Amino acid sequence: MRSLFLLLSILFSLEVFAEVPEAAHTFEFNVKMLRMSRNREEKVNEAIDLLRRIFASQEFRRRILNHRFKGRKAFANNRGMSNQQIYNAILAGVERLKPTRNNAMDLELELYTDHDSKVMGYTLPRSRRVWMNTKFFNRHTPANVASNLTHEWLHKLGFDHDYKATWKRKYSVPYGIGYIVRDLARRPWTL
Ligand SMILES: [Zn+2]
Repeated sequence: MRSLFLLLSILFSLEVFAEVPEAAHTFEFNVKMLRMSRNREEKVNEAIDLLRRIFASQEFRRRILNHRFKGRKAFANNRGMSNQQIYNAILAGVERLKPTRNNAMDLELELYTDHDSKVMGYTLPRSRRVWMNTKFFNRHTPANVASNLTHEWLHKLGFDHDYKATWKRKYSVPYGIGYIVRDLARRPWTL
């Protein structure tokens, strides 16, 4: 009996049975698509369907809470926030331009074309909009689009990363969580 109790407490501490908060299930995606063809809208909608499953999943929570940087459970450029606080901020959905805890991703998405650029997408601090380059968008899978949308949206929450491809850039919140989303979106059957 005692060993059973011990086993259960170990499992709980490993978060095997930890539940995601209600906010993970109720999270909404308010992504307004601007001047987009039906096919492209469909790709974005598939990406959002993936995101809905990812955000509600135990695995998404687990990976954010366990993200490591410099040997500690942390992200780079974390604005002094713990992994748990970053996860909570995501579910709260508090964009700097729309600072209400509305439990949603609020974005506008517009495509542009620049064949000479290596930039997949970008956003500007004073805009709710995210711009994605069709040069990449057209060949991207919904999993890639889900990852890019999340990356850009995390900028809207105030998270940043090194401009140049430094060694630590991939540990930043937009990159780190963008990679988690990409990884989970590629194998949604595990969610
Ligand atoms: Zn970025």
